[in-house]
Amino acid sequence: MEISSSLKLVARGERPDTIVDVKGVKVGGKKVSVIAGPCSVESRDQILEAARAVKAAGAHMLRGGAFKPRTSPYSFQGLEEEGLRLLAEARKDTGLPVVTEVISPTDVDLVQEYADVLQIGSRNMHNFPLLKAVGRAEKPVLLKRGFGATISEWLNAAEYIIAGGNKGVILCERGIRAFNRITRFTLDIAAVPLIKRASHLPIVVDPSHATGRRELISPMAKAAVAAGADGIIVEVHPHPEEALCDGPQSLLPEELARLMGELRAVADAVHRTL
Ligand code: PEP
Ligand code: MN
Repeated sequence: MEISSSLKLVARGERPDTIVDVKGVKVGGKKVSVIAGPCSVESRDQILEAARAVKAAGAHMLRGGAFKPRTSPYSFQGLEEEGLRLLAEARKDTGLPVVTEVISPTDVDLVQEYADVLQIGSRNMHNFPLLKAVGRAEKPVLLKRGFGATISEWLNAAEYIIAGGNKGVILCERGIRAFNRITRFTLDIAAVPLIKRASHLPIVVDPSHATGRRELISPMAKAAVAAGADGIIVEVHPHPEEALCDGPQSLLPEELARLMGELRAVADAVHRTL
């Protein structure tokens, strides 16, 4: 399968699967990883409560945005550096590595002082100065697919990061824009086996942003693991009705705990562990 002839570093070739090691949590290989947490860091109480619930459910990493790329300039933009400090506190409290988004090349150094994984959001997948900046960073990168991006454009974005010297790239399928308005985006589940054939990089799936609907998250997460995903990244909020961002697509803590059990069974069926 020829996806793009310009892919020197991300193409599968003869390479073994890349395993990205995040403080001992290995993304790729035999294990399925679960990254969970609120869309945004909102307060100390909120992130600590969420982090403890994520830990108690048995998930492996904590997510939470401190710098938020919002569609409206009037929406909550994140707590910025204070949010990063709170994430570091939540990591200390639970031992979970943290994944958080960076939206500007000038913030990369600041964000990587606190974060264990730098997230590039869907809206920034085509931001080449930002891709180059995280290519020079020391922390691994979770690269979300642009919601209007082809597989080839997405892999070329990963190529930018690796060409810059950063080999720790985790791809994230988070839904693409189609004509259906009942879900927020449309999960491109075929992207998972396609990426597995085209590239050696690990891929995780985000069923929260892909659907925008809580009741669709668990089914899509299970489908992702069945299709060969190396993990999922899912939004979880202790009080979704009060969330400043993405409450309707956040699992409740008890739903995450239930999902973990179900994912374990699916992982087992496809000869993976969780
Ligand atoms: C997020 O992870 O909260 C987020 C903004 O995701 P995306 O970039 O996929 O929309
Ligand atoms: Mn979100």
